[in-house]
Amino acid sequence: MNTENQTKVEETKVDEWTKEFLISRKNGFTEVTDEEVAKADAFCEGYKMFLDLSKTEREAVEFGIAQAEKVGFVEFEYGKTYQAGEKVYYNNRGKALILAVIGEDGCNDGVRIAAAHVDSPRLDLKPYPLYEANEMVLFKTHYYGGIKKYQWTTIPLAMHGRIVRRDGTYVDIRLGEEPGEPQFCVTDLLPHLGTEQMTKTLAKAIEGENLNVLIGSRPVRAEKGSNLFKLNIMKLIHEKYDIVEEDFISGEIEFVPAFKASDVGFDASMIGGYGHDDRVCAYPAIEAILHCDKPKHTVLTVLADKEEVGSDGNTGMNSAFLRYFIGDLAKMEGLDPHAVMTKSKCLSADVTAAFDPTYASAYEPTNSCYLNNGVGVMKYTGSRGKSGTSDASAEFMAEVRRLLDSKNILWQTGELGKVDGGGGGTVAMYIANLNIDVVDMGVPVISMHSPFEVVAKLDVYMAYRAFKAFFEDQSC
Ligand code: MN
Ligand code: MN
Repeated sequence: MNTENQTKVEETKVDEWTKEFLISRKNGFTEVTDEEVAKADAFCEGYKMFLDLSKTEREAVEFGIAQAEKVGFVEFEYGKTYQAGEKVYYNNRGKALILAVIGEDGCNDGVRIAAAHVDSPRLDLKPYPLYEANEMVLFKTHYYGGIKKYQWTTIPLAMHGRIVRRDGTYVDIRLGEEPGEPQFCVTDLLPHLGTEQMTKTLAKAIEGENLNVLIGSRPVRAEKGSNLFKLNIMKLIHEKYDIVEEDFISGEIEFVPAFKASDVGFDASMIGGYGHDDRVCAYPAIEAILHCDKPKHTVLTVLADKEEVGSDGNTGMNSAFLRYFIGDLAKMEGLDPHAVMTKSKCLSADVTAAFDPTYASAYEPTNSCYLNNGVGVMKYTGSRGKSGTSDASAEFMAEVRRLLDSKNILWQTGELGKVDGGGGGTVAMYIANLNIDVVDMGVPVISMHSPFEVVAKLDVYMAYRAFKAFFEDQSC
């Protein structure tokens, strides 16, 4: 092209074109009003309470049911006729939950789903966890989900979960959360003796087999007998929970960080806490459906278990429970379940990584999500060339963009770090495999999977607004 002959454009034209044709990126905070920020801060007070109350999938499901019942949700009954506006829930084994509001059009044009998960990385007990060694008593653990093991040493831990005795009766345990209650910890070597350990890589310095939880150090007072330290602790456990050592075999005990969620920063703009992944999407999805009256389409909030270990298992998203539930709703309206699922749409409500300037080299700055820039919409996740992802269609992405923009909801898009930097998946693909339109939408997180993850309050609130808009929208 001969540049000589081109007329030079005026500067004002460049400004105009830039505005019209290019993406302009400002910090999300500058785009919202003080009133909206105040609403976000208020919303997050409820969220912090939820975090402290719901550190395991069972506790989150319990919370979800309790909140839902307060606003009129009742247990789903197959075969019953439901009217528009009726609210039901399906409790799958106390570890996964579906909340549903029947729409004006029922399932005629498919259902609208927000699906989050309520399990988080943690330390589970082994079947035979209890042992004594060198006059100390410990629990052996098997970690759950993707953790950096060194992060789980020398922090206060609390014991949560359920133990079912041989006769089927059970005891729920939650110890180390209330003031005055004992807490627990995984020990680490003192730096003075850490010369050899310090030469190891992060992956090797703390071994999975060494994630043992310290639970006692006094023996039974006796002249003879063996295992007196272990015996003393088991005796105390028996007094408190009426269980014997063998009962651990039928237990689901999780050791989780004992600290509470708190504001982070002088501006209190962020929240630090355990289990943002994925309770930071679960809570907005619960709140969205609790505040959704008479939607056009039937709407569902799904809280799944097992996401952190691949979504398999009957309470995971790879189980048929969602398919069965939608099928039941369809059949009760005389509709074909397959047709209903094909017309359904879903937001896979899971977190994404937020850009961390301290580890900038792990991210591709143009395609990253940032704190305070709103809820993240991810067309795809996965790793090694988009493996393990459903990849939303261009059409559905456009629909979601349109919806969020029409409601003035702050949102952003990005990828999980650099190509070939690693990656990760969500429940999106399991739902997409039912022939449902799915896109990932969630809150960006700093220090994901650590005991103290960080999110921005504004993003949490925008996730709530996004899920609510998706439920209430007539066009989507
Ligand atoms: Mn997640
Ligand atoms: Mn995760």
